[in-house]
Amino acid sequence: MSNFLPNELINRLREDSHFDTNAFIDTHERGDRVTSIRLNPEKLGDRAFSNAEPVSWCDHAFYLDERPVFTLDPLYHAGCYYVQEASSMFLGHIIEKLGLKDSQSRALDLCAAPGGKSTLISSYLGLDSLLVSNEVIKSRANILVENLTRWGTHHVIVTNNDPGAFSRLPGYFDLMVVDAPCSGSGMFRKDPDAIDEWSLANVKLCSDRQKRILAESLATLATGGYLIYSTCSYSIEENEDILDWIMSTYEFESVQIPTDAAWGIEETRSAQKQAFGYRFYPHNVKGEGFFVSVLKKLDHQETFNRKRAKPEKSNVPKQVLQDWLSSTSDIHAFLHNENIHVFPSSYEADLKWIQQVLYIRNAGTNIGKWTGRELIPSQDLALSILIKPDLPAQQVSLAVAQDYLRKENLSRTDFEGENGWSLVQYNGVNLGWVKLLPNRVNNYYPKESRIMNL
Ligand code: SAM
Repeated sequence: MSNFLPNELINRLREDSHFDTNAFIDTHERGDRVTSIRLNPEKLGDRAFSNAEPVSWCDHAFYLDERPVFTLDPLYHAGCYYVQEASSMFLGHIIEKLGLKDSQSRALDLCAAPGGKSTLISSYLGLDSLLVSNEVIKSRANILVENLTRWGTHHVIVTNNDPGAFSRLPGYFDLMVVDAPCSGSGMFRKDPDAIDEWSLANVKLCSDRQKRILAESLATLATGGYLIYSTCSYSIEENEDILDWIMSTYEFESVQIPTDAAWGIEETRSAQKQAFGYRFYPHNVKGEGFFVSVLKKLDHQETFNRKRAKPEKSNVPKQVLQDWLSSTSDIHAFLHNENIHVFPSSYEADLKWIQQVLYIRNAGTNIGKWTGRELIPSQDLALSILIKPDLPAQQVSLAVAQDYLRKENLSRTDFEGENGWSLVQYNGVNLGWVKLLPNRVNNYYPKESRIMNL
């Protein structure tokens, strides 16, 4: 038996006669590192990774042979890819199999920070959908905003609420993802320090919390809507038992997701209700430990009165939008604290309903500060997929790009353009803004995002 994995965990997993205990322990003892990234299809084509091994169950996702220092890669800061653990990318396969890819869905990612699943949901559902990405912990909500801003899509609202707050939007969402806080055993290979914090008592605590999160928020799912429930725990108490609890407390049916046997994902059934679950073991799949399942809501769910107020006339001059955005169709622009935000006009009424009952951290893309005469363009605009393609821009070398991202002083000789605002581009991708002056370059990269100590 392993001398470092908790015996109580191993003994419980062994109760499944198919479980290969030795292979499971070996893979943890070897501590193999698997690095995977998912590209932003709106920013970077797959060509750059044509030789890399793809992740079978997710589009635009690849394994890397080595783990580079991502912090030093300008494309990482530009939101061209998200470094995400491969097993959890199975969410893409699920969204596809549910027929929700490129749909017009309203989706909630309830436990969303730092944003791995939200960026995936944003890409998979497409720009005709609305994603509400929520995180209860304030500091983590900031990181979530940062990662989604980098991703550059404007069909997202980031909220900072307790799960219970969503009961104020009954029957609203077509899809709800609950990537629940858990005891974290699935990450033991990647993060052996987490082993010391594992205990059966904590598994019980997590399981109770998972039920509480679901009980407080499930009313926000529409009748016929899908719940995707996941954890990075191996414990049945946090996985299959939760499915049984949901199905015995509410009217839900389990949804089977077809998989390819070659992927090594284990389909399980819960003890009472025979609900389907998908287990990812690191000795069987190229990824870390993960559990995911899909339930469809059958309960008749009351909803709220979706009164559509007459769309307000925008107080943002159309010319400003035309000057800075590639397209202004289906764009609702509004001023908030002197900043101009752009958001899909098809969800303008939704934004109002959500605003009334939730604490919004960010809605759509903040394209900059409006002085009443001119727009001071924001970092969010530089990273937005909506930015006009022919704005003044300067290609820079890797060294200059890194200096820019460290917010260092830049030399005017590295920039040929005329004086005024200019985008800084690396490999054709926007990193942010500079203002070119006759003898100087003002570096507008946000202080809080700058690369430090590298
Ligand atoms: N979905 C994220 C991703 O893919 O990047 C990871 C989410 S992580 C597994 C679980 C999240 O739940 C954490 O961000 C944590 O702050 C949040 N959380 C912790 N306690 C919570 C609670 N009581 N209710 C809701 N969310 C909670």
